[in-house]
Amino acid sequence: MKDTQIAIPTGDGRIYYDMSGTDNPCNGCSACCRHFRVSFYQGELDTQPGGHVPADMTAQLTPFRACMKGTESGHSSCIALQADGLCGIYEHRPSVCREFPVFMADGSFNPECVRLRALHGIAAWAPDRKIAVHLTQQPQTQVMEPL
Ligand code: SF4
Ligand code: SF4
Repeated sequence: MKDTQIAIPTGDGRIYYDMSGTDNPCNGCSACCRHFRVSFYQGELDTQPGGHVPADMTAQLTPFRACMKGTESGHSSCIALQADGLCGIYEHRPSVCREFPVFMADGSFNPECVRLRALHGIAAWAPDRKIAVHLTQQPQTQVMEPL
């Protein structure tokens, strides 16, 4: 089995992850979309030049920060989370969602993903699963294969 996580360097030191493919390692348990306060710089809103996050699905937190509606206090579902566990605004989701991977660069599981799955009573990833990471260039593709 291969799990593919597309890693896209942003050019400013961050990495965005695209897990929209059918062989991506995120199984859509949606624990991360039901736990965090999903907040981000308001310049990402589609009411701002160059922004793309639907502003009508957000709430203002501070003069400079917004968050997805439903997540203002954390521990509840984001308004964009669909019944099927998928994100309804995937192509327009905020940066904080794009930066949350299943696998870290060294092939280990994202400890926050592991923690949230346990917190929400979702089965843990197979503990003996070993991962090798291979990177290609532009966009980087992280292919996770059993060792
Ligand atoms: S908690 Fe992990 S497996 Fe679950 S939806 Fe988020 S990234 Fe995917
Ligand atoms: S915007 Fe999409 S990916 Fe981000 S928390 Fe909401 S449902 Fe999840």
